[in-house]
Amino acid sequence: MPVADFQTYCKILDRAREGRFALPAVNVTSMTSVNAVLRGLADSKADGIIQVSTGGGAFASGQSLKDMALGAMSIAEHVHRVADRYPVYVALNTDHCLKDKLDTFVNPLVAETERRRAAGQPNLFTSHMFDGSNLSLGENLDIAEKLMARFAKDDLILEIETGAVGGEEDGVVGDHNAKLYTTPEDTLEVARRLNPIGGRYLLAATFGNVHGVYKPGHVKLEPKVLKECQDAVVKQHGEKARFYLVFHGGSGSTQEEIHESLDYGVVKMNVDTDMQYAFTRPIAAHMFKNFDGVLKVDGEVGNKKAYDPRSYLAAAETAMAERTKQAVTDLRGNGKTMFAS
Ligand SMILES: [Zn+2]
Repeated sequence: MPVADFQTYCKILDRAREGRFALPAVNVTSMTSVNAVLRGLADSKADGIIQVSTGGGAFASGQSLKDMALGAMSIAEHVHRVADRYPVYVALNTDHCLKDKLDTFVNPLVAETERRRAAGQPNLFTSHMFDGSNLSLGENLDIAEKLMARFAKDDLILEIETGAVGGEEDGVVGDHNAKLYTTPEDTLEVARRLNPIGGRYLLAATFGNVHGVYKPGHVKLEPKVLKECQDAVVKQHGEKARFYLVFHGGSGSTQEEIHESLDYGVVKMNVDTDMQYAFTRPIAAHMFKNFDGVLKVDGEVGNKKAYDPRSYLAAAETAMAERTKQAVTDLRGNGKTMFAS
């Protein structure tokens, strides 16, 4: 199927929230990782989200260019080309973009979508995230408001974040003293400022989340925070204001914590760190097992079959596809693709 358009993606999100399942949003940095996600989703008969971070975009553009928007475009073009051949829907999202990177990442990508729309072509991306969680809530929402007004015209979905996520992702280090739990008051303010604009947004409301991976006990997730936020917004603005929530920093979470968050309206869960490990694990095994083939030891010539990058990258693709399938299962998404219905 092609990349989900705005209407289709909205329907997918509605169905997910009603059915208490969520879409995995997997970070990719190369064609190989894109192909892994599509394969995992297709095997699970589940729709999902492919996303590119600022660092992922810079990487994908090549080490001499390091142009985050260019690399993101290149990955998106690949997804548009190949997604057609898989029997599921995929949405394209850009991940965490801080205020100071909007002009070199999100804004040029939105401009590219606007150029495409004017030429009668589909949007480049389905959604973009603005991360203003390191700003005051007021400034966070000032910027979100402006983006929403533009996105509503372009059939783009905005994702924002309130509260602060701990840990580190892509060089963004969360402040350990920052508040890790969003309050109902914060989210009421989000609804008050953004709902009148129209269009659709997703909200990453933090509930103790930490980016990266930590040993058990380090993180105290409180999914109940999400329920309190939903109850408050529905009480004040009615059922139609119920949030579409995003789970960030979920690596290492328990099944119970994930399922509880789905019950409270999480429709998208970011999976990055666990995918990185899944991708690298078989490459490590390949190198250890074939060290005298991948290296030219003691004047020998090595083994072309072992050092051909396709040999270990194919294994990495397979492992990441398997990890994608596990993410779908964790999120109760098996067989839930809209494509079949
Ligand atoms: Zn986040």
